[in-house]
Amino acid sequence: MSDPKKIEKTEQQWRQELDSETYRVTRQAGTEAAFSGKYCDLKDKGMYNCAACGEPLFSSDTKYDSGSGWPSFYAPADAEVVGQKNDYSHGMIRSEVVCNKCDSHLGHVFPDGPVETGLRYCINSASLDFKEESKEGE
Ligand code: FE
Repeated sequence: MSDPKKIEKTEQQWRQELDSETYRVTRQAGTEAAFSGKYCDLKDKGMYNCAACGEPLFSSDTKYDSGSGWPSFYAPADAEVVGQKNDYSHGMIRSEVVCNKCDSHLGHVFPDGPVETGLRYCINSASLDFKEESKEGE
């Protein structure tokens, strides 16, 4: 039984739709090299959407400079949009963060974030698609 809100595609479909780095990170739980991602230092106002399905995931309002080398947020745009899974790979116990809509790998969440929530969502740029806030109406 599939959830109608979920996006489900075959690995072949994802491979065709996504560029190779986005595919490697989102569908194969890859990690981009530290300080290599296009959004690491971005401070523009807007929304970071899922690179695979377009779901709004993180607002620039919660982005902060963690010094880790990956885009870091202290909260998701909405509690429902991201899920967490235990990740025991690489000899560590970490909480993997996934897009709840398409199950793409986004990154990990750590309990060493800033005072707002104490959480650090450490997210790959390759999993995100930034949309700048519209300047209309200003
Ligand atoms: Fe997604």
